[in-house]
Amino acid sequence: MAEPKPLAPRGRVLLDEPLARHTSWRVGGPADRFFEPADRDDLVAFIRQLPPQEPLLWLGLGSNLLVRDGGFRGTVIALHGALDALRQEDDGTIFAEAGVHCARLAKLAERSQLAGLGFMAGIPGTVGGALAMNAGAWGDETWTHVLAVDVIGAGGATGWCSPAQFAVSYRTVVPPPDFCGFLAARFRVTPDADGEHAATTRRSLAQRKATQPVGRPSAGSTFRNPPGDHAARLIEACGLKGVRRGGAVVSSLHANFILTEDGATAADVEALIAAIISAVRSKTGVELHPEIRVVGEPANA
Ligand SMILES: Cc1cc2nc3c(=O)[nH]c(=O)nc-3n(C[C@H](O)[C@H](O)[C@H](O)COP(=O)(O)OP(=O)(O)OC[C@H]3O[C@@H](n4cnc5c(N)ncnc54)[C@H](O)[C@@H]3O)c2cc1C
Repeated sequence: MAEPKPLAPRGRVLLDEPLARHTSWRVGGPADRFFEPADRDDLVAFIRQLPPQEPLLWLGLGSNLLVRDGGFRGTVIALHGALDALRQEDDGTIFAEAGVHCARLAKLAERSQLAGLGFMAGIPGTVGGALAMNAGAWGDETWTHVLAVDVIGAGGATGWCSPAQFAVSYRTVVPPPDFCGFLAARFRVTPDADGEHAATTRRSLAQRKATQPVGRPSAGSTFRNPPGDHAARLIEACGLKGVRRGGAVVSSLHANFILTEDGATAADVEALIAAIISAVRSKTGVELHPEIRVVGEPANA
């Protein structure tokens, strides 16, 4: 009897999709395959029929990602706008699928008079990206509030895991072996009946708008803060505001932000990152480490 044919995905599969369209720096070459699932079941079925060695790149809003100019040889799994279920459960916790925008999650918590997730209001990424990065702001971070995560393993098995199965630290999350990607999470929240948490969130958002080049193409903070210091302070102290490589330039508002202009390439961003690391090392002795993730192949590889 003939083998049954694998079911065609219900979501979109695009070939040679330029990743510059899907990253906040607006640079990056094409992905061989780009998959936007119709929903969770479609994603799980798609992953189960992939060849075991297929390189995968999970993508949220691409707000912490530098894709090199040669693009990505493999399959991108794009969740924003696809896995977007969000609700408060009967037990008071919040359930969010990985493609939900962090600001939407923060808004639901605020509308429901719940405290704990306000820091997400200013993070322009998805829940999946926040889980992968342990995204944080204003002294708070994602995993402090995680009760459980729904994950898919490399072989396509799915299930809920406890945070204890992940090694979590500042902007770093080491998953258990065989982990493939985040599908959803359940978050702990507390009552914010007097609206104090919501008011603090609004003040912090206003401060962010005043001190960061919000709305211009960037990936937020490029470098992790070194212990006891701030990357932005060190970069500014080295006189690097406004320094550029091609179409990539150090923001004059916030020195840890690299902005891209029309025509910029990922190679420009990488060259500027290398120049900043070298200048800060030689002037202060501090070694800066990128917070952003760099993926893909250089042009002409
Ligand atoms: C203006 C601006 C301000 C920012 N401010 C902050 C801030 O205050 N604090 C902060 O922490 N960050 C900040 N960032 C960075 C960025 O928004 C966060 O890191 C965010 O969590 C990334 O989410 P994303 O969906 O865009 O992830 P992406 O950039 O798409 O991906 C980031 C990483 O997560 C992985 N990933 C994404 N989804 C999944 C998934 N479902 N399963 C497994 N892995 C996945 C990707 O493969 C990649 O390695 C800022 C960025 C910008 C542009």
